[in-house]
Amino acid sequence: MLTTSATSTTPRVLTHWIGGGPFEAAGDRWGDVFDPATGMRTGRVPFADQAVVDAAVAAAARAAAGWRSQSIAARTRVMFAFRELLERRKRELAEILTSEHGKVLPDALGEVNRGLEVVEFACGLAQLTKGEFSENVSSGVDSYSIRQPLGVVAGITPFNFPAMVPMWMFANALACGNTFVLKPTEKDPSAALFCAELLAQADLPPGVFNVVHGDKVAVDAILAHPGIAAVSFVGSTPIARHVYEAGTRSGKRVQALGGAKNHMVVLPDADLDLAADAAVSAAYGSSGQRCMAVSVIVAVGGVADGLVRRLRERLTRLRVAPGRETGADMGPLVTGELRARVVSYVDRGESDGAELVLDGRGVKVPGHDGGFFIGPCLFDHVRPEMAIYTDEIFGPVLGIVRAASYEDALALVNASPYANGVAVFTNDGGAARRFQHEVQVGMVGINVPIPVPMAYYSFGGWKQSLFGDAHVHGREGVQFYTRGKVVTARWPDPSHRGVNLGFPQMK
Ligand code: NAD
Repeated sequence: MLTTSATSTTPRVLTHWIGGGPFEAAGDRWGDVFDPATGMRTGRVPFADQAVVDAAVAAAARAAAGWRSQSIAARTRVMFAFRELLERRKRELAEILTSEHGKVLPDALGEVNRGLEVVEFACGLAQLTKGEFSENVSSGVDSYSIRQPLGVVAGITPFNFPAMVPMWMFANALACGNTFVLKPTEKDPSAALFCAELLAQADLPPGVFNVVHGDKVAVDAILAHPGIAAVSFVGSTPIARHVYEAGTRSGKRVQALGGAKNHMVVLPDADLDLAADAAVSAAYGSSGQRCMAVSVIVAVGGVADGLVRRLRERLTRLRVAPGRETGADMGPLVTGELRARVVSYVDRGESDGAELVLDGRGVKVPGHDGGFFIGPCLFDHVRPEMAIYTDEIFGPVLGIVRAASYEDALALVNASPYANGVAVFTNDGGAARRFQHEVQVGMVGINVPIPVPMAYYSFGGWKQSLFGDAHVHGREGVQFYTRGKVVTARWPDPSHRGVNLGFPQMK
């Protein structure tokens, strides 16, 4: 079993998971896993090469025929069992997330719960794969549609939700009858193995779910592999674009969710206390490492000064501390590299002329000098041409852009190449409705700062936040992991005798 201890000084050695159990390969390259709160190396993760990916796809292919021919009830029963096991052990998984990602424990538990919702949705899959039936489309002829699994499918997932995002994918993919190869992030990879172990305990047959660790080498081997029918990807925009282009070039169905720059528009009539609370939660939760994090406030009319005052009050009360400490609000960033990148954006925002209202660069966490901490940073008077506005920073940095009118605010949001989430704060129902109608973004919140849809809706953005046609989970997720077939059937009846070379007419 995986140990959940992050205090051990001997790095834990991870393995791939292929064919129902741990899989070791001689030729693996290795990566390091860190405890972001201390900066210490706590694990070593193997990086798959082509041969390891081949082994995983072969195991998944061997398991495919047996799994797809199991009844829907048998497949969803495994999901029920997995759900029960995970429900019982979710605290353990949350601790793993905190130890490798750094997010505070309640946030980690929240992540597991949101993943569980997709598993619960998958338990009810039978309703969503029902087809249509038409009797007598011609005399004595019936037609019906069915949805079938694709075969072996793959998921490639990011560091920021190492448990939830894989669950977005594999729960529906498996329930639909596919077998799965997961390539989780190399930064916090243990959650994927925890899920693999629980799926095995839930009686998932060997080979139906496999995990290969790694980097670009593993990803590119997956994208080119002729044995994989479809790829789901979640990560940054440049890699999402690459995954979409390479995957579709090799004939696969691909959904590739990319990065984000989410705006929160605050209209002049909004309740500013409510808006400030929401902005702090949405911008600084998980230290800003959420694809739905708010990173820009568009303050319309005269609300900016009041908002800045309220934000500053709230931000100075936030406690930056290791995620496992009770009372911690913001944990560290996932790696020292990301921390350095975020700091460089704050430097750049200052030199570009934005007003740094609150500077978290110098934050110190006693006893954790090596940790990847940065405190909350807030910029006012951000302009659209600045890098802190245009680029996804993925840290606890919030910028305020001042807009004169609703129209200016809307134009700004709609000009962004990203279009994952957006929120509007107002007490005017008409304005909110107009915004929802006019804004060109995939997920919209009205007085809700992080509008992540429930598992029975689909998740995904527009523009460069999603390459491909299908959003994840919900109905679109089920469509993505299945393909349709229409059957036209006639059972022998003497009245049907006779040859007819004309194009079939349904009379
Ligand atoms: P990332 O793009 O660096 O990595 C994602 C996956 O791609 C990982 O499994 C990684 O190993 C792999 N990868 C990295 N570089 C690669 C390369 N050159 N070629 C092939 N594969 C490569 O993303 P990340 O840093 O792990 O996660 C953060 C990003 O994910 C942010 O941009 C965030 O907005 C985005 N994200 C988006 C959503 C969404 O729903 N749109 C959800 C979560 C995260």
